[in-house]
Amino acid sequence: MNTIRHHSIEKFKTTRMPEPKHEAHKVSDIFAENVFTEHAMKTYLSEDAYYSVMTAIKTGTKIDRKIADQVASAMKSWAVSKGATHFTHWFQPLTGTTAEKHDAFFQITGNGKGIEIFDSNMLVQQEPDASSFPSGGLRNTFEARGYSAWDPSSPAFIMEVGNGKTLCIPTVFISYNGEALDYKAPLLKSLHAVEEAAIAVCNYFDKNVTKVTPTLGWEQEYFVVDEALHDARPDLVFSGRTLFGATPAKGQQLEDHYFGSIPERVYAYMLDFETECFRLGVPIKTRHNEVAPSQFECAPYFEEVNVAVDHNQLLMDVMERVARRHKLRVLFHEKPFAGINGSGKHCNWSLATDTGKNLLSPGKTPKTNLQFLTFFINVVKAVNDHADLIRASIATSGNEHRLGANEAPPAIISVFIGSYMTEVLNEIESKVKEGKFTEESEAALRIDIHNKIPALMKDNTDRNRTSPFAFTGNKFEVRAVGSSQNTSATMTVLNTIVADTLKKFKIEVDALIDGGKNREVAIMEVLKHYITASKKICFEGNNYSDEWKAEAAKRGLKNIKDTPRALDLMLDKENVDIFVRNNVFTSEEVHARHEIELEKYMKKIQIEGRMIGELAMSQIVPAAIQYQNELIKNISGIKEAGLNASLSAAQKKIVAEISEHINVISDKVEAMTEERKSANNIEDAREKAIAYCDKVKPIFEEIRYHADKLELIVDDKMWPLPKYREILFMR
Ligand code: ADP
Ligand code: MG
Repeated sequence: MNTIRHHSIEKFKTTRMPEPKHEAHKVSDIFAENVFTEHAMKTYLSEDAYYSVMTAIKTGTKIDRKIADQVASAMKSWAVSKGATHFTHWFQPLTGTTAEKHDAFFQITGNGKGIEIFDSNMLVQQEPDASSFPSGGLRNTFEARGYSAWDPSSPAFIMEVGNGKTLCIPTVFISYNGEALDYKAPLLKSLHAVEEAAIAVCNYFDKNVTKVTPTLGWEQEYFVVDEALHDARPDLVFSGRTLFGATPAKGQQLEDHYFGSIPERVYAYMLDFETECFRLGVPIKTRHNEVAPSQFECAPYFEEVNVAVDHNQLLMDVMERVARRHKLRVLFHEKPFAGINGSGKHCNWSLATDTGKNLLSPGKTPKTNLQFLTFFINVVKAVNDHADLIRASIATSGNEHRLGANEAPPAIISVFIGSYMTEVLNEIESKVKEGKFTEESEAALRIDIHNKIPALMKDNTDRNRTSPFAFTGNKFEVRAVGSSQNTSATMTVLNTIVADTLKKFKIEVDALIDGGKNREVAIMEVLKHYITASKKICFEGNNYSDEWKAEAAKRGLKNIKDTPRALDLMLDKENVDIFVRNNVFTSEEVHARHEIELEKYMKKIQIEGRMIGELAMSQIVPAAIQYQNELIKNISGIKEAGLNASLSAAQKKIVAEISEHINVISDKVEAMTEERKSANNIEDAREKAIAYCDKVKPIFEEIRYHADKLELIVDDKMWPLPKYREILFMR
């Protein structure tokens, strides 16, 4: 009897949670109770201070020191009244997780007593000892210091862990020279860029619009597994995915998990993390089973992009923590199990005006529909022109397993717009004729189009689940983001490319207007050009098919499957320029980010390689040999008993088979180790990542193939690792 696995399974049986005790409460009673909301600010700030802060937040202007002092004092009173003893600047370094360094409010006053202190200096800027966060060389060249600076556009909150309560202040994380070392700083800059550009274009249609806010509603997929089984799998513990494991007889082929009833144990977990989220103001709305066994999804109401990103990071933190309380583990890895679906994070994105309009929702009148069309076509054009940047933003070692496999968006970026919009765009393209397009024909076309667009597009868009970037009636849905990723990377790209496209659009339309054209005619003419120019990115068919791969190649669309080469796209001159001219990144920052992503990739593959070598040689091969020895004993036993040798024919066959697999595994582990060694000698980050990608990683599959074969023949009792069928079917 193998101790590890069976001990784990025993433990699993005995560590089931007692019946969850849930106090009945209305969500509205607890929602955002741990958030320094507008309401809390109003209560704790003087009227003047409240209005200055709110204006500064809404207009994105600087908050002056005097006001900041008042905010700090209000925040402290609020937090202390809620039992918080510490505060921290909360930021999102490029490691992909969140970072915090707690400081006590408490200060000794000298008379053996103390008081709680928190002033604007502590609120506005901190200098965490951050020398080991990735910087891509940015800090080595100048200063080792990193600063976190308050982001007033995302509300402070109190994180409760056990009995500890900490006031968390969302911040950006930058170097001494102001270069971004995190995800939030460029995100905020990209939001500013797209807001400005969108307002200018909006004003063609409505002068009352003074603010445009990008919105994001993410959908978080994840797996839930038992803690004991998880901990008995070093590969899950150290790399977040199983590096070995034969596909069970029953996987997801019956599709009986999708939208099925949620297993009780997971349900209790969901209720618990949702409650924590509600307290933190994260508006979780939906929960359901996903396609793969033990896979689930949750999604919130959409929010402003910056807050939505913070809330997604918070959700992942909370989910990890609460899972432990339930003796469970949540897996955010994009592909924790081979042979069944992986996890993504769909990012639904749109633009909202301060007049209450969703710019990507069809309008009620021909005029508002022209506005809708303008934004719609500009987004399609942005993706058409800068698909490379979207591809680069989703390039990670985990997502590499999804992109290009037959389950998730392919590595080829394309846009699905649906049959209605395809028809509308075709009509504009054919009817807007250079020189012959008059005000009358524009008015007629506009009404014609208006009649073609169903008022409730949302219910009329045919859903194409295979597209990486789909219009879903009133928003675009980026489906290619990985489940573990910080959504900022892709949101920063999307905001930037849309900002850039809208700015160019405005310049072109203005030039036509200056040349004497009627405004609507000018808009239609430029839109027509954009439609023609964006033809190659639009695809309505099955993105998983081989025909699409061939067709995409003909259209000149890239199909880059591996991470290092997808990351290379960031460095194309045009791609660097677009970030620079929209003030999102400097060229140095783009290069630094490129290097950080390459290094992250390389290290993840390196860890996987080490883990594979260790597990293969110290657990799998020994188990196989142990079983082989039993067989050999059995074979000689049969002989000694004077029985016919043919009675041990099957045993002999298995003995030989085991030896064959063991030999390949041992050879391949050696070969992989050699490849790792030579990759490690490479200085250049890009070359090194490519060596890991091309030379080291392919050997993983070869080793795994033979190890998984062994799993199916070695005595179940002797197998050292919990099997898929044990891990995946949560009850
Ligand atoms: P699905 O069928 O993909 O689940 P839903 O309409 O339920 O579609 O929405 C999915 C996600 O889209 C949710 O997170 C929701 O908040 C988000 N969403 C809806 N409208 C918008 C919008 N205008 N901007 C951004 N996200 C949105
Ligand atoms: Mg969706």
